[in-house]
Amino acid sequence: MPVSGCRGQSSEPDSANTLPTDSVVDTSIVRLLPPTLATDGDTIAWASGRVASLVADDSLWAKAMQIHFNAIVLDGHVDVPTLMVDDEYDITQRHSSNRSHVDLPRMHEGGLDGAIFSIYVAPYYGEGARAVARARAQIETVRRQLGDAPGDIVLATRAEDVRDVARRGGTPIVLGLEGGHAIAGSPDTLRALAAEGIRYVTLTHVNTNGWADSSQDEAKHGGLSPLGEKMVRTMNNLGVLVDLAHVSDSTFADAVRVSRAPVIVSHSSCRALTPTVRNVSDEQLRAVAENGGVVMINFFDAMVNPHLDADLFAEARRRVRSSGRGMAYLWSAVYDLRRERKRSGATWGDVVKHIDHAVRVAGIDHVGLGSDFDGVFDLPRGLSDVTALPRITYGLLRRGYSEKDVRKILGGNVLRVLDQAERHAER
Ligand SMILES: [Zn+2]
Repeated sequence: MPVSGCRGQSSEPDSANTLPTDSVVDTSIVRLLPPTLATDGDTIAWASGRVASLVADDSLWAKAMQIHFNAIVLDGHVDVPTLMVDDEYDITQRHSSNRSHVDLPRMHEGGLDGAIFSIYVAPYYGEGARAVARARAQIETVRRQLGDAPGDIVLATRAEDVRDVARRGGTPIVLGLEGGHAIAGSPDTLRALAAEGIRYVTLTHVNTNGWADSSQDEAKHGGLSPLGEKMVRTMNNLGVLVDLAHVSDSTFADAVRVSRAPVIVSHSSCRALTPTVRNVSDEQLRAVAENGGVVMINFFDAMVNPHLDADLFAEARRRVRSSGRGMAYLWSAVYDLRRERKRSGATWGDVVKHIDHAVRVAGIDHVGLGSDFDGVFDLPRGLSDVTALPRITYGLLRRGYSEKDVRKILGGNVLRVLDQAERHAER
């Protein structure tokens, strides 16, 4: 979800959550760690010294690291393809967290095995050939970069491929299309993009399109139009997941009613904790659970921050409306208001709270991770890029989650819905 705003301008230092450095190493603790974590070598993990110093503070870290780096960890929404196509961004090289949130070296360090890369098409491309061309240019760029990359970072289209690549230590990348306007109102274009590797379609972005209403735009259809319902059924037939992030509440309800396969919400958090329309309500969490789908929690500060109330979001909407700009500017208005009203930023613990809330309402089988890395300009303290991901596992364990349940949240649930989508397509 690339949103307006200048990356870096608003990133806060991690001072309150600074990780102890390698200089604080207690070697007796290193010896207690599982062998794969106690040596650097080729191990894909945080450096042993970094782990050891955390374990010195809290022994639960040893268990967290063991679980995190042994699980298949998947992020359901990463926006890095926009950087790859516009900025000649090399995914195989390490970049600073001021520039971006995700690259291959940092994915390894943070234990992120694979991701769904968002092929994001901005609303100003319209709902025709230009938007389709923009989607294709990104797919082509991702394919070319992965094709040229050394090692085992590969495009995957089936859940079983994702599992196989991750188990042998590679990095499976799945593609999702963000913005239904990019299929140009054509089921044939949808079929063609599915054939090019697209495995989910976010029905809208911040714009209402020709067949579905967005949460941040005028309602024109009262949810899904008849063409919208046809699009959902076509996605079911193709094994393409229906993604309900960004859509209006009416579109959400219509899509859950029409879809024969489980739906996903690839990057939204909980409205009960942070009251923006971009987040899902408890009623929607229950609807996704009943449908068998998964809600993947977004890490964006403005969507997990407990200090932002309904009044602040309403004022942000008023400001954007009176400025005559589109609702894409909502997030910079929210950010400005947060500063003006001296509200604190979110922390990584707030993300864990949203995950926990979603689990309490929807159940353990219906929650995952959808960071929105490289699509947002303001991340919680302690979660400034993908290398901080093990904190989520630690935070869940600290709340009493079992290893089995943590694994479901980290990636198991997403793999299950990919499997189910494929089975529905085969019928
Ligand atoms: Zn988005």
